[in-house]
Amino acid sequence: MKKLMDRIARLLLYGFALMLSHSAPVFAVDGKLNIVTTVSPITNIVQNIGGSHVKVTGIVPDGTDSHTFEPLPSDVKTLQAASIIIVNGLDLESPTLNLANKVKNPATLILQLGNRALTEAEWQYDFSFPREQGHPNPHLWLNIALVMRYAEIVKDQLIAMDPVNTASYQQNAAIYLAKLQKLDQAIFKCVESIPENNRKLVTYHDSFAYFAPRYGMTVIAAIQPSDFSEPGPQEVISIIKQIRESGVPAIFGSEVFPSKVMAQIARESKAKFVDQLSDDALPAAPNHSFIGMMVHNMTIMTEALGGNPTCVANIDASNIPF
Ligand SMILES: [Zn+2]
Repeated sequence: MKKLMDRIARLLLYGFALMLSHSAPVFAVDGKLNIVTTVSPITNIVQNIGGSHVKVTGIVPDGTDSHTFEPLPSDVKTLQAASIIIVNGLDLESPTLNLANKVKNPATLILQLGNRALTEAEWQYDFSFPREQGHPNPHLWLNIALVMRYAEIVKDQLIAMDPVNTASYQQNAAIYLAKLQKLDQAIFKCVESIPENNRKLVTYHDSFAYFAPRYGMTVIAAIQPSDFSEPGPQEVISIIKQIRESGVPAIFGSEVFPSKVMAQIARESKAKFVDQLSDDALPAAPNHSFIGMMVHNMTIMTEALGGNPTCVANIDASNIPF
């Protein structure tokens, strides 16, 4: 009976949407909100909260450089059909946003989570995202407190667009926020287990700018230049000097950004080179989830810096079933 009522309510909503044509949300044919997202962490967060009432299409493939990603011609259709487009923002997905603004239904909202979660005064500018270039560091999602804000914003938006399923969105959000809270606490424990002198990060890609201040670490250097090329010899020498002086035992890279220079820097600074951190690529099944990505990151990072990687051993990285 409840199902039938839901269905009738949804049909009424759909009819109403058609009547208003461009000024109301577009629903997919099967009655689900048709959500288009960009990077995998956001795709995964939205799917966990939307559950069975949404169809989510992430257009930035896992393992691609999201900063230089250009949408494909085939993404036009996907963007045109979207009920809503949910992106990170803070200039991360500019080519995709430009295309979306050209082709989307005029009534379709583009929700920029990062711009909603932080005020401009809280934006970070640093190594690869210098203030003078005007593009803030966009990697908010490596700070779990900010991911919790993302989750709240997504929940409120889905409820506003699809009020019939309010209870379901609220329930999923509550479960997901509880999981995030546990993850957040575990990350604090990981960092506490690292000897104080080693709570320093040298990464190739500059993605820990919001992570470090929350969890009590310092980003000493991020090596990738702002144009995503390789650093010049002078910069390499100065980075090696900094690493030697700081005494960090390990420096970090990722598979998405292979860099020959990192191996050289590691050799000459006598730090271990660990090239397995991830800033937006999710790990393979069974933990193909944003939480799984963070568990993987914390295991790698904690171990390499001399801490106890069991800090994340009890984290449930599974997605909410739907
Ligand atoms: Zn990145």
